Amino acid sequence: MQATTLGYPRIGRARDLKRALESFWSGERSEADLEATASRLRATARDTQRAAGLDVVPCGDFSLYDHVLDTALAVGIVPERFAGLTGLRRYFAMARGEKGGAAPLEMTKWFDTNYHHLVPELVRGQRFQLSDAAQLLSYREASAGGVARPVLLGPVTLLHLSKAPGFDPLDLLDGLLPVYANLLRVLKSAGADWVQIDEPVLALDANERLQAALRRTYDALAFEQRPKLLLTSYFAPLGDNLDLVATLPVEGVHLDLVHGAADLQPALAKIPADKVLSLGVVDGRNVWRCDLRRALTTIRTVADRRDASRLLVAPSCSLLHVPVSLGREHRLDPELKSWLAFADEKLGEIATLSKGAVYGAGAIEQELRVSDLVVACRAASSRVRNETIRARVRSFDAKSWKRKSYDARATAQRATLALPLLPTTTIGSFPQTDDIRQARAAHRRGTLDTAGYDQAMRDAVAYAVAAQEDIGLDVLVHGEPERNDMVEFFGEQLDGFAVTEAGWVQSYGSRCVKPPILFGDVQRRNAMTVDLAVYAQSLSKKPVKGMLTGPVTILKWSFVRDDQPLEATCRQIAVAIRDEVIDLERAGLRVVQVDEAALREALPLEASQRANFLRWAVESFRIATGGVGDATQIHTHMCYAEFSDIMAAIEALDADVISIEAARSDMSILSSVAGHRLNEVGPGVYDIHSPRVPDEAELAGLIRTAVRSYAPERVWVNPDCGLKTRAWRDVDPALRALVAAAKTVRAEL
Ligand code: GLN
Ligand code: ZN
Repeated sequence: MQATTLGYPRIGRARDLKRALESFWSGERSEADLEATASRLRATARDTQRAAGLDVVPCGDFSLYDHVLDTALAVGIVPERFAGLTGLRRYFAMARGEKGGAAPLEMTKWFDTNYHHLVPELVRGQRFQLSDAAQLLSYREASAGGVARPVLLGPVTLLHLSKAPGFDPLDLLDGLLPVYANLLRVLKSAGADWVQIDEPVLALDANERLQAALRRTYDALAFEQRPKLLLTSYFAPLGDNLDLVATLPVEGVHLDLVHGAADLQPALAKIPADKVLSLGVVDGRNVWRCDLRRALTTIRTVADRRDASRLLVAPSCSLLHVPVSLGREHRLDPELKSWLAFADEKLGEIATLSKGAVYGAGAIEQELRVSDLVVACRAASSRVRNETIRARVRSFDAKSWKRKSYDARATAQRATLALPLLPTTTIGSFPQTDDIRQARAAHRRGTLDTAGYDQAMRDAVAYAVAAQEDIGLDVLVHGEPERNDMVEFFGEQLDGFAVTEAGWVQSYGSRCVKPPILFGDVQRRNAMTVDLAVYAQSLSKKPVKGMLTGPVTILKWSFVRDDQPLEATCRQIAVAIRDEVIDLERAGLRVVQVDEAALREALPLEASQRANFLRWAVESFRIATGGVGDATQIHTHMCYAEFSDIMAAIEALDADVISIEAARSDMSILSSVAGHRLNEVGPGVYDIHSPRVPDEAELAGLIRTAVRSYAPERVWVNPDCGLKTRAWRDVDPALRALVAAAKTVRAEL
């Protein structure tokens, strides 16, 4: 029985990759410097995994930016607009664009994780060719010091994740397979015994199209002169895809036994005994220490029925999704810290489990005892379970929505807000200026005291309010200067959450996020946003919109508890947010926005789970927002155009106003909105994702489109999303154009 992983974090212990990339992009450091850092990171990953006792270490899982982009390049998928470029210049142009150059590839979430991959672009008649030796080089590098297993993104998943305008990307499979065959031959002749081939499309609901493509692929790759294939999928059970997987001509299959525990028995029955099974018993997506005794029992169940030499102990998926090491956490509460395992600690768990499986539980008695203790402490800890919170949360349900119908509310709101037709507003954040960043950094370092920091934040609020007054917006915001992140900010203040010092996880390329750890029952200790909101309101006669993050988004962008259903955790957050919404109303705010940016992406991979998820997601939003009077206007915001499939749920939120992304899709969102009762809608007319400043005529055109497809008295005018990544010199003229465009169209009504 061997110990392995499916992939290791790429960013390095101190976000080394981020620093190396950014200094390369700024021209401070050379390509050779960047390569040196990358090679050092790969070496550290290998050494760390080997030192932890792993028998087989993956290679080729590292990437300078994204593994989907790497795979696309390896097989020669390069859109025409980058044809003139080569090497790293082309690589980063595809990843992030160049000033004045071609637009980069689109980015989207990797299955249901918070990692973003680039979306390769295919054309009809697309040709493929093996055009990148990176896999071979990384194999040579890695196999020098021990057994290494190259990792490839499988052809079906690669095509499935690509954009193919007007045709089915899987139609291109036959052209692509010879390239994969070639790559496998090359790796074989370099000495690779095994290759890990990732096909996470297997976690999606079974469908004939994908199944037929997988069958064709692995039949075509079943030739003699290739390495053995370990086929992996993760994030959800194989479910109805198991029959297919069991009969594909591959030598090994990985099972995600954390998110797909239900696969175990059918897999044992169906997958032939001569195949290698990789048992993903350590959660690769969450930060909790593994219950070693339970995992060992699972491994034993398999070992009783299979030849141990054909078993691997593994994490459920690549460790890409967890922070690198607990070693950098010096401020975490020791009890909580003892419950956690980041990537490096998970390596230890995997090695321990394989030792226990080979030599018996006695060989890891000490580790099992510690693990039992952790399990028992976590279950009994008063910081995890708080009966007072639980009793209070139980008292809220669907009936906790205390508001009248939208029509009655709209009448009450018109009376108190007295807004013009086509009211203008923004989504919440204003530019995070150097002053704001410096104040935050100085406060963290201790060179700026709390009073000084608070003053800097108030100054930023005053600046934003004055600017909005001057620009002539109708509903103002305080601008969110105090929030480095819309989830971590709340995680820092709510009971039940812990924030880490260095728990960074790659979001995309050089961008990393530090998700809070949601470990226990949630409650709000004190008001979190009221002070600055009240201050902003004191500076203007116009209504200021309070600004909160919604329960589903907080849940989705945190590491969550694994000891109770997500629904229960979400409700607790909802009650905490409800307390804050009510406090904002009490403090005199007449408008409150509760962002649910992550609602769509939190949708479960498995279709069978979606209705239940949407039920509790909607209920949570309604608990959060349902405690205020009819005259208080509730806004929400979602930043993606693709949600026609959850329109009924969005309608059920019953927010008074929803702002959505629309500019990039040329207002096409309006066609899905029409026919639904979304109350008031603010289709984003200003695309904040681009540094371009839109002009008034263009914005007026978009607003006219909106009032043609939606009743004008229900249309709002606003940007696509928050403005924190933009600069004031762009935001100012863009918002002036937006206000002027709204006035122009208003006059035409
Ligand atoms: N209120 C947040 C902001 O403006 C919303 C961000 C988001 O939708 N991602 O920054
Ligand atoms: Zn947004």
